[in-house]
Amino acid sequence: MEKFDVVVVGAGITGLSSAYHIKRENPDMRVALLERKSTFAQGNTGRSAAGFRDVFSSEMNRKLASSSISFYRHVQEDLHHDIGMKFTGYLFLLGSGALDSGYTREAAAKSRSRFVDKHEIEEMGFRLRPERSEAELMGLSDIEGGLLGLNCGIIEPDKLCGFYDRQIREMGVEAMYGTEVKRVALEPVKPLNYPGEPFLWQEKTVRSLQTSSGEVSADTYVLCTDVWTTALLDPTGIDSHIRPKKRQVFQVSGPEIGRFVEHPMVEGADTVPFVVLPSHRVYMRPEPRSRSLWISVADEYGRDFSFTEDPQPEPEFYEKSVFPVARSYLPILSSARVTSMWAGHYAYNTIDRTHYIFRDLNVIVATGTSGSGIMKGDAAGRIVSALLGGKEFAELYNGERVRVSDLGVEERRVPREHMVI
Ligand SMILES: Cc1cc2nc3c(=O)[nH]c(=O)nc-3n(C[C@H](O)[C@H](O)[C@H](O)COP(=O)(O)OP(=O)(O)OC[C@H]3O[C@@H](n4cnc5c(N)ncnc54)[C@H](O)[C@@H]3O)c2cc1C
Repeated sequence: MEKFDVVVVGAGITGLSSAYHIKRENPDMRVALLERKSTFAQGNTGRSAAGFRDVFSSEMNRKLASSSISFYRHVQEDLHHDIGMKFTGYLFLLGSGALDSGYTREAAAKSRSRFVDKHEIEEMGFRLRPERSEAELMGLSDIEGGLLGLNCGIIEPDKLCGFYDRQIREMGVEAMYGTEVKRVALEPVKPLNYPGEPFLWQEKTVRSLQTSSGEVSADTYVLCTDVWTTALLDPTGIDSHIRPKKRQVFQVSGPEIGRFVEHPMVEGADTVPFVVLPSHRVYMRPEPRSRSLWISVADEYGRDFSFTEDPQPEPEFYEKSVFPVARSYLPILSSARVTSMWAGHYAYNTIDRTHYIFRDLNVIVATGTSGSGIMKGDAAGRIVSALLGGKEFAELYNGERVRVSDLGVEERRVPREHMVI
């Protein structure tokens, strides 16, 4: 049986960043990274809309995102590793309620951002007042202004993961791709070799992982398996605390979309900002390489909490739910066609919509990314490493600190996030 100090499971952004920071801080430890797919970023990291922002209502999320953004910027600008990071800005189009709300003002005050007036928004091609009949039918707000986050933009997650993957290999982490964990084997600390162990009264530990390539053992296991965490942990009685929800992305293209995408709002950018509409949280992410837009939404009521291994996008959902809202604000969408679509899941922390990073027995769990795991991925890895090292605080890249137990379960202290998209 292979024996390691630490085994990290999952080669999405969370697992790669965790393996990187654990090995960086503990060079003598023998660390392995297990991933069932043949390469990295094949889970939700590869299915995301790949936006980043530090505009959040919760201070915790702002910290996690802004430090991760600083690190990614360092990777691209100082280490010259192209991760496709573009500071396009994030434009939140706001109805009157949102424009005046406390959390918009607070988010604006805490992030590098500026308010945008109606004229500028109209010049981009947006309709400020959707047609009255449509507005009434679909409950659409008029656009009263916008908040443009400047430390925000788009990134290429496969390239970002490629950076971490290269680093961990150079540092000596043993990356075992194509290795699926089939079972987390809970055993007694002091086995008596009686059938039926572990009994109620025996102290328990995870002795090994049964994988498609044999048994793998470690002192500590770090599960960064996103929505798959529940299935892995349920048989052990450890609660993952998350619920999965399907999320879909529709790529739309056409000559008018191509021209729209080419108009930056932020100095130095070559494309439009990531735009969040004021109603129903529909958003549009520019994809400058193909001069297209990715359109998506974090739908709540009516979208069940459920998990399927290979979630499929629903063209009807775009046609009947997303498109009518999006077109009411951006009329050029009428001439666009859907050229691609895909789906994944958010691993929701349904209470405060922020990561869970906790230890139970000798297992560390990092999940519950709630739709913003890439933009907070570097910070998550640092917090996992601090938890492994028994530290009270994790030091983030930009020098800010996070109390590790704040993201745990028992002493959790995280305000509810209002800006989930
Ligand atoms: C449509 C959509 C849009 C999104 N948009 C954004 C966005 O704009 N910005 C942002 O920051 N976030 C976004 N997200 C969220 C983001 O994708 C996730 O928060 C993030 O990718 C989670 O990373 P992870 O490493 O925790 O999980 P994953 O990337 O899912 O990685 C988990 C890995 O574990 C592996 N695994 C699972 N089970 C096993 C097993 N038994 N054995 C071995 N390996 C296993 C999987 O194969 C997978 O590679 C979006 C998500 C979706 C679905």
